[in-house]
Amino acid sequence: MTVQTEILTLIKQAKTIIIHRHQRPDPDAIGSQLGLADIIKTSFPDKRVLAPGKQYHGFDWLGQMDTVTEADYQDALVLVLDTANQPRVDGEFYNTGKQLVKIDHHPNDDAFGDPQWVDVDASSTSELVYQFYAASKDELTLTPNAARLLYAGIVGDTGRFLYDATKPSTMRAAAALMEAGADATAVNRIEDTITLPVARLSAYVYEHLTQLDSGAAYVILTNDIMDSFEIGDASTAGVVPLPGRIDTVQSWAIFVQQKEGDYRIRLRSKGPSINGVAKLHGGGGHPLASGAKAKDQAEIETVVRELDQVDRDYQKEV
Ligand code: AMP
Repeated sequence: MTVQTEILTLIKQAKTIIIHRHQRPDPDAIGSQLGLADIIKTSFPDKRVLAPGKQYHGFDWLGQMDTVTEADYQDALVLVLDTANQPRVDGEFYNTGKQLVKIDHHPNDDAFGDPQWVDVDASSTSELVYQFYAASKDELTLTPNAARLLYAGIVGDTGRFLYDATKPSTMRAAAALMEAGADATAVNRIEDTITLPVARLSAYVYEHLTQLDSGAAYVILTNDIMDSFEIGDASTAGVVPLPGRIDTVQSWAIFVQQKEGDYRIRLRSKGPSINGVAKLHGGGGHPLASGAKAKDQAEIETVVRELDQVDRDYQKEV
């Protein structure tokens, strides 16, 4: 039995299915969560399907989150999507159900759940949910809304098919989702749209980027800077890919100060693996897209030194 059929069997056996995703969600987290919820609800109308988590207005276009209580978890099948480690799960009761299942495409550093379906070669968890549907097409229904949600997740995590996680299978999944009713143009346009404050912050990022000879680059966004652009942490996602467009930049870090004073580190790369640096600072992630935390300016300087070293080592390798 494949892990997909094992998960389908568990879904069929459960009366209540609760689907979680990670905190500070992106389109893949919400798209895979709500996309799978839609597939299960439509295919098995008698089942109770809940998708909890914080509602972010910027993602209202994807759908609404459900409110849950601890009582909902009694005998429930809990599926955690797109979330590598348990502290990142959005939802306090996720491990109080009858059974916990992990579906993810991040490195499996925190191997929780049974079964675990982890495929680090998949572009996104939304692509995995599409594969789940495709493996049992005769028993499952994919509505145009579910197709739109999964397409949104794939587009989000591949940077509109730009990153190297984009495989022929990704394009086939995207094509099938378009055929199932996903309005690709509408989704692409929404994900490409930025607010005027983010446009202005983009200019700041380019203007204040420090680039080292190794190809490492960084910018620090303090609370004062973000306040001056009337921007919060959630809006920084739009500027994270920008340094990568510069030909001489290989890897980069964006330090985003938090209200408590420490910094969220958003690390990206076009070649050198940067998740080792993230792990040194309480974080992790993919080789080319990771995150961590820095408590102060001194730790920022350490991260920059480490990133510089990673890029130097990479230059020697290639
Ligand atoms: P972000 O810059 O927050 O979009 O993070 C990029 C990727 O890094 C995510 O998809 C996660 O895989 C990973 N990541 C971010 N923050 C953390 C963290 N604190 N711990 C572990 N992994 C993280």
